[in-house]
Amino acid sequence: MMKIITIDKNEQVLRSKSKKVNLEKDYIKPIVEKMQKYMVNNPNAFGISAVQLGYLYQIICIKDKLLINPKILKEKGLGGYWEGCLSIPNKLGYVERPYILTIEYSDIDGTVYKEIFEGFDAQVLSHEIDHLNGMLFIDKAVDIKDVTPSQKQKIREQYPYKILSK
Ligand SMILES: [Zn+2]
Repeated sequence: MMKIITIDKNEQVLRSKSKKVNLEKDYIKPIVEKMQKYMVNNPNAFGISAVQLGYLYQIICIKDKLLINPKILKEKGLGGYWEGCLSIPNKLGYVERPYILTIEYSDIDGTVYKEIFEGFDAQVLSHEIDHLNGMLFIDKAVDIKDVTPSQKQKIREQYPYKILSK
């Protein structure tokens, strides 16, 4: 079973900066596989960063997409969402983030991509990239609520992702 690092027990790890990945190292593949497995087994998770499994490397999984050494090239606009985090269970926070993100990243074979993420995808990706810098959604949230899982769902139904400016 994979254990997610949580703020109550391991805030120090979550607050650490992740290292840039050297793809020639053979310890990277098992970490990526663990992250991908976690996403497959937890379809409700929007994304995960390696630090949440205890590995301080710049690796992110968003649904079935893998981003290694992601770098923000450009930001535009603003969106808002009641965010949660696998590492901060029982809390939601309203966070405003760029509506459009232009990202450069690498896949597991070292191929470099430049891709534009928009709307909810940009929101999730910004949250995950923050993890690589030791930053958490509670640092940026303008409003934070303690919630049960059912309250979490209700709030998100009532306040879906919102575009604030394009
Ligand atoms: Zn998170």
